[in-house]
Amino acid sequence: MRTPIFGGNWKMHKTVKEAIHTVEDLKEEIGNIEEVEVVVFPPFTALNAVKAVLKETQIGLGAQNMYWEEKGAYTGEISPLMLLEAGCRYVILGHSERRGYFGETNLRINKKLKAALELGFVPLVCVGEKLEERRKGKAKGVVATQLRECLEKVNSPEVQRLVIAYEPVWAIGTGETATPQQAQEMHRLIRDILLELLGEELAASIRIQYGGSVKPENIKDLMRQPDIDGALVGGASLQARSFARIIRYKNKNSLRNI
Ligand code: PEP
Repeated sequence: MRTPIFGGNWKMHKTVKEAIHTVEDLKEEIGNIEEVEVVVFPPFTALNAVKAVLKETQIGLGAQNMYWEEKGAYTGEISPLMLLEAGCRYVILGHSERRGYFGETNLRINKKLKAALELGFVPLVCVGEKLEERRKGKAKGVVATQLRECLEKVNSPEVQRLVIAYEPVWAIGTGETATPQQAQEMHRLIRDILLELLGEELAASIRIQYGGSVKPENIKDLMRQPDIDGALVGGASLQARSFARIIRYKNKNSLRNI
């Protein structure tokens, strides 16, 4: 049984004050929700303040990126130890914006993943094809290569904490979502590759999130798919109310009616 996991990736949005308001509202909206795992990924500058608000809640805290070394002369980078100190248990690795704008490669993601697992994080590794790759019929090959390279020689028992986020680049921030069938097809492929790389037990227990213009209006149909285990949400997570509606896609476990 895989517990659905919902992540709110705030990207480069929100001052400390805005971040505090958003998580205060989120706390109120979802209460002590059970049966799902919820995580927010604020910008680095707001981590400490958000951590204080989330104390004694079930909502987890995560970082949008990290370096693999613990310390050193790496100007502008942030270390896993610093993130642990700031209260993070989760980390997004290889988001398509990092790959596209900042030259993140599968090799770098692989190093980050190994460090994250070793230090106790729950890493969310993002994979996904670009529009031209899908148009040319290359989507499955691209995602398979990303996954294999990111998971190269990752076989410690800690890999059970791994989460994969399938995020087609053409669906991120565009308002265009993969159909539930398109998403399920890719999630099935990812699970098959996990089976080949990590064996039956891990392939059955590792969660695969969908990401790409997830909204309260489309989450239910996505979550009906057998291999979709939650969502990584960008734009719709910036407002507590819309993120809460996604998290409560079943319309139960709620304190308030929506
Ligand atoms: C994301 O940033 O991971 C994402 C899926 O963004 P959006 O929901 O805005 O498409």
